[in-house]
Amino acid sequence: MSNPFQTALSTLKAASEVAGLEPNVVKMLSQPKRIFEFTIPMKMDNGDLEIFTAYRVHYNDALGQTKNGIRFVPNLDLDTVKALGFWMTVKHAVSGIPAGGGKGGIRVDPKKLSEGELERLTRSYIRKLPMKGAWVDIPGADIGTSAKTQGWMLDEYEEIMGFHSPAAINDKPAELNGTVGSMEATGTGAFFVTMEAVKDLSIPKGSTVVIQGFGNVGRIAGRLLHQEGYVVIAVSDISGGIYNPQGLDVEKLEAYVDETGSIKDFPGTTVVSNEALLQLECDILMPSAVQSVITEQNAHNIKTKLIMECANGPTTPAGEAILEKRGIIIVPDVLTNSGSAIVCSFERTQGLTDTYWDIETVNSKLKERIVKAYKETTTTAKDKNTSLRNAAWVNGLTKVAKAMKARGWV
Ligand code: NAD
Repeated sequence: MSNPFQTALSTLKAASEVAGLEPNVVKMLSQPKRIFEFTIPMKMDNGDLEIFTAYRVHYNDALGQTKNGIRFVPNLDLDTVKALGFWMTVKHAVSGIPAGGGKGGIRVDPKKLSEGELERLTRSYIRKLPMKGAWVDIPGADIGTSAKTQGWMLDEYEEIMGFHSPAAINDKPAELNGTVGSMEATGTGAFFVTMEAVKDLSIPKGSTVVIQGFGNVGRIAGRLLHQEGYVVIAVSDISGGIYNPQGLDVEKLEAYVDETGSIKDFPGTTVVSNEALLQLECDILMPSAVQSVITEQNAHNIKTKLIMECANGPTTPAGEAILEKRGIIIVPDVLTNSGSAIVCSFERTQGLTDTYWDIETVNSKLKERIVKAYKETTTTAKDKNTSLRNAAWVNGLTKVAKAMKARGWV
C-alpha cells in the first residue's frame, strides 16, 4: 500500500504546477504547521497500565481554525494523520469553508476497550490536547469515534474551561446541540455531486452502480441513488461483496445489515470478492471503504465511466494515470466526500449563534455549497485542460495560498 502522505504530496506537486503556485507556497504546504504527538497512560479495568500513542495535526490554518476527525484505530501512524489533515485543508478550501485542516487520533482498537475505558481514554485525549476550542481547533468524529465519544469530549472540554461552548466539538449528539444530518452528510453530499456528474456525462437513470464499502457513506449514497432510479448491482463490506446484475433492493439490504451486521449471504445475490467487485462492468463506481484500492495493478481492468471517490484516497497516483489515459472520469475525494466537512462547519455556526436548523435547511445549504464546488471544479478543469482532481486542488490551494500571502507567511 502506498504512503497516503506521499500520495497527498504528489497531488500537491501536480496541482501546484497547473495552478502556478510560488515555490515558497508549495514548500510551506508540504509540511504541517503543527504536529502534536503524545502518550496517554491509562490504568485498564484489570489494573494493568497501558500507554497509548496519540496525535493531532493542524495541517494549515491560513483560512481559519482547524477542524475535524479524531480516529481511534489500531494502526494509526503520523503519515496517515498528516495526509488526512492535508486533505481536510484542501476539502474546506474547495467548498469555500473558512477553516483549516486538522486530524488526529489514538492508536487503539476501541472494540477491545470496555465502555469505561473508552470514556476515560477519550476524556484524557481532550485533557492532553494542547490547543483546542471553537476559535482554535475543533475535533470531530471519524473511524472508531461516534456521537457518544464526541459528547464526552464536549463535556470534558467544558469542564476544563468552566463554561459551555457547543461549537468546540463537532459530531456531538443532538441532546448537546449537535446538528441534524451530520451522520448522513457525506453520503448525501456524494449523492448531490453524483447527480451533477451524471448530468454532465449523460449517464441516465437506470444506469448501474457498484459500491465498495456499505458503511455510513456507501449505504446512504447507495440508498439515495436507488431511490433516484439508479441500479445498484453490487456492494461490499469487509467480509466481501454481493452481486446481482438485475439490481439490489438497497432498502431491504439495509434492513438485512441492521439485523445481521453484514451484507454477507443477502438472498438473491452471488458472492464476489472485494477485488473482483472493483472490476465489475458498471456506469458508476463508488469506492467507499478504505484508501489505495485502485492502483496500477487493477486500473487496466476497471470497467466504468465514472468513479465517485467517497473514501479518502482510494486511487493511487499510478492507478489514476492509467484511468486518465483510458478516459475514465474521477470525481475526487476532496469534493465527493466533503459533505461531512461542510455540515460540521454548519454545526459550528449553529453552536456559535445558538440557533439550530432543521434537516431541510441543513440539506438545502449542503446541496447549494457542494454543487457550487463541483461547478467551480469542472470550470477550472476545462479552463486548465486538467483532471477534476487537479482542478479541485488548484481551486482549494489557490484560496489557501492567497490567505497565506495575505497573512504575510510567504
Ligand atoms: P464505516 O466504518 O461506516 O464503513 C466502512 C465500510 O467499508 C464498512 O462496510 C466496512 O465493512 C467496509 N470495509 C472496511 N475495510 C474494508 C476493506 N478493506 N475492503 C472492503 N470494505 C471494507 O466508514 P464510513 O464512515 O462509511 O467511511 C468510509 C470511507 O469514507 C472512509 O475512507 C472514510 O475515511 C471516508 N469518509 C467518511 C466520512 C464520513 O463522514 N463518514 C467523511 C469523509 C470521508
